[in-house]
Amino acid sequence: MSNTFVGMPGFPEAARVALVDTQLRRNLAHATKVIRTKRNAVVGELDDWQELRLAGAAIKDGVLRHLDGYLEQFEAAATAAGAQVHWARDGDEANTLVAELIRQAGADEVVKVKSMATQEMGMNEALAEQGIAALETDLAELIVQLNDDLPSHILVPAIHRNRAEIREIFLREMPGAPRDLTDRPRELAGAARQHLRRKFMSATVGISGANFAVAETGTLVVVESEGNGRMCLTLPETLISVVGVEKIVPTFADLEVFLQLLPRSSTGERMNPYTSMWTGPGDGDGPRTVHIVLVDNGRTRALADPVGRQALRCIRCSACMNFCPVYERTGGHAYGSVYPGPIGAILNPLLNGVDAGPVEKSLPYASSLCGRCYEVCPVAIDIPDVLVHLRGKVVDASREHKVPTAEMLGMRAAGWAFDKPGRLAAVQRLAGLGRRLLGDRGGAGDGLGPIPFLGPAAKWSRARDIPLPPRESFRAWWQRTRGKQGTAGKQSRKGAA
Ligand code: SF4
Repeated sequence: MSNTFVGMPGFPEAARVALVDTQLRRNLAHATKVIRTKRNAVVGELDDWQELRLAGAAIKDGVLRHLDGYLEQFEAAATAAGAQVHWARDGDEANTLVAELIRQAGADEVVKVKSMATQEMGMNEALAEQGIAALETDLAELIVQLNDDLPSHILVPAIHRNRAEIREIFLREMPGAPRDLTDRPRELAGAARQHLRRKFMSATVGISGANFAVAETGTLVVVESEGNGRMCLTLPETLISVVGVEKIVPTFADLEVFLQLLPRSSTGERMNPYTSMWTGPGDGDGPRTVHIVLVDNGRTRALADPVGRQALRCIRCSACMNFCPVYERTGGHAYGSVYPGPIGAILNPLLNGVDAGPVEKSLPYASSLCGRCYEVCPVAIDIPDVLVHLRGKVVDASREHKVPTAEMLGMRAAGWAFDKPGRLAAVQRLAGLGRRLLGDRGGAGDGLGPIPFLGPAAKWSRARDIPLPPRESFRAWWQRTRGKQGTAGKQSRKGAA
């Protein structure tokens, strides 16, 4: 059974652990730089990239405005093509349904194409509890699964592992791995291929997600690079596709836009090596039975948020995390979810609510708001804008706390001081006195170092230098040096009038 993100601490605690892992930071810096360079080169080839982005955003916005109608259209078209369409309100419903469908097919082992939706719902773990083994067939997902690890990137789930580490995992966990295996990529891929091929030949049920679901035709689309997806989609007799309701595009022609945006933004390729499309079961080819499970799992909650709903435009390309300076330093695990990086920082609170737990509450702050995520997003999601909006929601949610937090107390005290000039002057005099008491405690530059006796604020002072209060406030300085002159100036202006 794989590890899960359940019970992860908030971002600040998790990031602190990640930041001291120098190997992790080296792996991440190298991998994200390679992907960034490739992406920039292929995006630079298109003169109309900005127009394509806006077209992608407009198509998705149109879908979100009429999602109910498009979903019914998709259901009707897929059913007419011979697929069986099911609906699931949340992850538990979807997992129960999929387990039942697998049992109906008489299987206790399934092969899987990489799917963010099934990871989001913890499907592998839920199936394992029902005695069903789910084998990930994407190379990076396989590495994560074999090592009982957690994915840390949407596109490259094992981005935090280097070749030497992968070799060790294969030797330790993969049945039949050659004992003389080296860490050369060709050999590692060859070992995985041998292992997976045996499973492909025996599996009778395949599970996939979908990158796109075409409403007018009932077609599902999966794009991938390794060919494992094509094997899962065509070899087993039963195919179960688990699809988030936001994956809809209205027409087949709309794919023209997204099949340009997605590969260039994700793998830095002009087109994906494998683009698989299927519309119900094929005649004498591919699976005989096709089930499609349409899942909400928080998407209608996100849709109800007028600012946040743009996150549902996401096509899971991962460009935002490859360009994010925060992600590059912390890696994906710190985000406490299968959706890491900037999109994870908005999607998790939107799907689950900002008050769902420490992860959701902390993620809107896991950003420097530098805006690179927005610049590279192929569907122009204004992630910084949504982050600021969600920070407001976190604050609003905390207003309902019966016991005020340290931040709330601090803000109330500041409000009291700023309310009357006399109070502000008194606080400034006290701050000057505080400087004389504290002196320079060793912080960088002109600041105070950690101040242990500040109570709840001590934590805040561990990560930042509180500026040293000035010896004399501006008001006091003005009064001392210009007080009389200022008064005289006022009087002379009065006289002139
Ligand atoms: S938010 Fe944009 S850049 Fe990030 S994964 Fe989604 S589509 Fe890609």
